[in-house]
Amino acid sequence: MLTALLDLVLPRTCSGCAAAGPPLCADCRAVLRAEPIGRVRPTPCPAGLPEVAALSSYQGPVQRLLLSHKERGQLSLTRPLGAGLAATVRSLGVREVVLCPVPSSPRAVRQRGHDHAMRLAQAAAQDLGTNALRLLVPARAVADQSGLTTAQRARNLAGALRGVGLPGRPVVVVDDVMTTGATLVEAARALAAQGHPVVAAAVVAATERRVR
Ligand SMILES: [Zn+2]
Repeated sequence: MLTALLDLVLPRTCSGCAAAGPPLCADCRAVLRAEPIGRVRPTPCPAGLPEVAALSSYQGPVQRLLLSHKERGQLSLTRPLGAGLAATVRSLGVREVVLCPVPSSPRAVRQRGHDHAMRLAQAAAQDLGTNALRLLVPARAVADQSGLTTAQRARNLAGALRGVGLPGRPVVVVDDVMTTGATLVEAARALAAQGHPVVAAAVVAATERRVR
């Protein structure tokens, strides 16, 4: 327990590849600075999914860095991950947009001790010279998504978010990971219901799903 705590405070290895040294080694930093893979579609693609761009597929160092940031509160990764997210937003070619993070449940934020998606949105917005706005709030509790099929996820999430705030500039929904796309569909639906013009979504990483 104490070792785990010390590891959080004094990381001695790279969170992406476990190489000795700082929490983000030069090689893993380069991965985050690579050209975004750009537009991605999950398979199957859920109805109502906006255009989505990703920096990377959800694997290897990027997956480990995102988990370390989200679950272990490795906040030194916020800026480099946020910069990668900003590059991904730029790759969409959209202008004069604000970023809206997908909200986590209050329980998840409490357990993790921070709102990882908001942190990434703020870092990316700073890079882009725009704002990260909380235009979405949880409307009700949802079951844990892990282990659910695409159809079950869609049902679990329908009506889970609520749009807030006054409609204004075009919105890009941002999140750390896209799995089935169900969360981004619900985010886009809730924003549109509030009158927000959703132009696209951007994620740091997208799960690679194959057609069976
Ligand atoms: Zn590394």
